[in-house]
Amino acid sequence: MQANKINALVKKPIQEPIKFAAIGECMVEMAPAGTDATYQMAFAGDTFNTLWYLKKLRPTWSTQFVSRVGTDTVSYAMLQMMADAEIETQSVGRDPQRTAGLYLVSLDNGERSFSYWRGTSAARLLARNPEWLEKSIGDANVVYFSGISLAILEDEGRENLLTALKSARASGKTVIFDPNLRPRLWDDTQQMKDYIMQGAQVSDIVLPSYDDEAEYFGDADIFATRNRYLNAGSTTVVVKNGPDEMICCHDGETIHVTPPVARNVVDTTAAGDSFNAGFFAGLEMYETMEDALALGAKLAGQVISKRGALVEIDHGTLTT
Ligand code: ADP
Repeated sequence: MQANKINALVKKPIQEPIKFAAIGECMVEMAPAGTDATYQMAFAGDTFNTLWYLKKLRPTWSTQFVSRVGTDTVSYAMLQMMADAEIETQSVGRDPQRTAGLYLVSLDNGERSFSYWRGTSAARLLARNPEWLEKSIGDANVVYFSGISLAILEDEGRENLLTALKSARASGKTVIFDPNLRPRLWDDTQQMKDYIMQGAQVSDIVLPSYDDEAEYFGDADIFATRNRYLNAGSTTVVVKNGPDEMICCHDGETIHVTPPVARNVVDTTAAGDSFNAGFFAGLEMYETMEDALALGAKLAGQVISKRGALVEIDHGTLTT
């Protein structure tokens, strides 16, 4: 059992602890702080959110963020937040010409909507230098990225990132991908679909969300989503499905898990990001895929019952 359990996350049994690198963009978040026009500043971004939750669940893992920020005050505040969360920042490059991306949360009758200023963010250049990129993930044994990590890059950066991940996988690292489809970040839907499938081709584990996949790839059901990613060459595919039953195919076997009913859904921001963190942590903590998926679902259930992307976790109810 132990060998299987470890193989799901790292391909060869390793003696040293897991070194998990997440590649992507962390942004400044401005969210309404009350009824008047006051805003509270925080920091969030999909792959970063996963890393942040992962560190809470597995404090002994090395968790490293691979990105780029500016050299201004808000960029340093972001780095300080990462340091406070014990996330390693030696692979967060500094760009004196640019700053961090920003998004603003608007509330309209309780519904949240988002406006983004990220078109010229420092993170867009994180994959410009192939040697830097290779060095940044060189130490890790698990490397995590998303469709958003790919979407924000220029064409050359996308090619550099895919090449680095391909060689990371070939050298024995486990590469994990959340497609996180965001059509607004791409030139058009076809470009998004092409790059998403290229992302899957360099990945061992893929974690799509069915509703988005059905919308843009036309998948008839969760099995069609699973099959498309298995055909791309991924060995483990988890198809998330909001409150409904999800599936996980690993080693040729497909299992089904239904998330616990969430009685108090306040804000679904970071549902998928936190689910992924719980699942990765669970792969080390438990013997079975079912238990790892259940931990992801429990964590996501907590996260959607509170406002914001990064919320305090109740560890007590997570592991019971
Ligand atoms: P994403 O945020 O990427 O769109 P999903 O909506 O598929 O991802 O949700 C990810 C996970 O969060 C689900 O697998 C489930 O465990 C949990 N989740 C999301 N929405 C709900 C909900 N309404 N009730 C219970 N669990 C939910």
